[in-house]
Amino acid sequence: MKISGTIRKWTLGMAAVVWLAGAVPMVWNGGLKQAAAAGKQDGAKGRAASVAEEEMEVHFIDVGQADSILVKTSSAAMLIDAGNNEDGDLVVSYLKEQGVKKLDYVVGTHPHEDHIGGMDDVINSFEVETVILPSKTHTSKTFLDVLTAIKKNQLQITPACAGDEYSLGKDEFTILSPKKKEDYKDELNNWSVCLRLEHGSTSFVFTGDAESAVEKEMLDSGLELDGTVYKAAHHGSETSNTEEFLDAVNPEYVVISCGVDNQYGHPDLSVLEELADRDIEVFRTDEQGTVVAASDGKMVQWSTKPSTSMKEGKNPKAVETTVYITSSGEKYHSQGCRYLKKSSIPITLEEAQVGEYTPCSVCHPPN
Ligand SMILES: [Zn+2]
Ligand SMILES: [Zn+2]
Repeated sequence: MKISGTIRKWTLGMAAVVWLAGAVPMVWNGGLKQAAAAGKQDGAKGRAASVAEEEMEVHFIDVGQADSILVKTSSAAMLIDAGNNEDGDLVVSYLKEQGVKKLDYVVGTHPHEDHIGGMDDVINSFEVETVILPSKTHTSKTFLDVLTAIKKNQLQITPACAGDEYSLGKDEFTILSPKKKEDYKDELNNWSVCLRLEHGSTSFVFTGDAESAVEKEMLDSGLELDGTVYKAAHHGSETSNTEEFLDAVNPEYVVISCGVDNQYGHPDLSVLEELADRDIEVFRTDEQGTVVAASDGKMVQWSTKPSTSMKEGKNPKAVETTVYITSSGEKYHSQGCRYLKKSSIPITLEEAQVGEYTPCSVCHPPN
């Protein structure tokens, strides 16, 4: 559904053309194949240039516990997030290897470091047409570095606004969130720029770290949400990826961008189970490294086979930390809390979290 009146459409003319190294799609003339060098060459040989023009590739770059996604077609490129501060060089060299000379769009979903950390390096290394950010400032050095890079390169920030549509080469994407004039306060995750990208009859949905409240808002927005591919929100956390939202997106494939043994315990087992119940094929950067999807406008093929591990993220801190519960309460506590006078049962933080105990608001135990 289109929201008239507020639609700003950037039609990029010839100036937006990027040069892509040979514009050779990664492989796959039918069936899943590992992205082994030999396979790549075989696949490229069998492919006519005109077919490449119809392709859209979406690269979920392995940046550990962070997000960075490159979208490229034969005539345009977009980067959604740029990993942590230390990933800047990695993202820049990945884009160079991919033949990217110019980015039509750089989207910083929200001011957390694991999303905009490497963005200053990207903006300083490539010609960038449009920078899309949420209308939320932040005082962190990471965020200020991004603002400095934007200014230095004489760019302006285009604020993301739900319902706005943009052209990416011959394709289009629509901003799903944040809502115009909505104040998500200091819930930075909920400021996430969410977008739906269409390529032929296939589509991709990216929602940054947006949590369940924003998923509900998107459901109520009337905007089209279905996506062949969905990048799991918030690294596969159970604070997002609600059943109702998954019903609406109804993806065939889900990609989870997360780090090995990350301290947040992403992805959550409950999310993995929900995806498995729905027979959704799951790809994970912690297990599979960079994962590439290629759409010909009708179907999506992958650089690797889906993950079958069902391995939830492990939070080493939660395994090592001891907290205390009582025989009847639903909260967990730090040692010495006044609520532990009658009963004090030590358990690990992980057990407390799995058992759905919530942190006590008096003693503020770790979470
Ligand atoms: Zn975040
Ligand atoms: Zn994040």
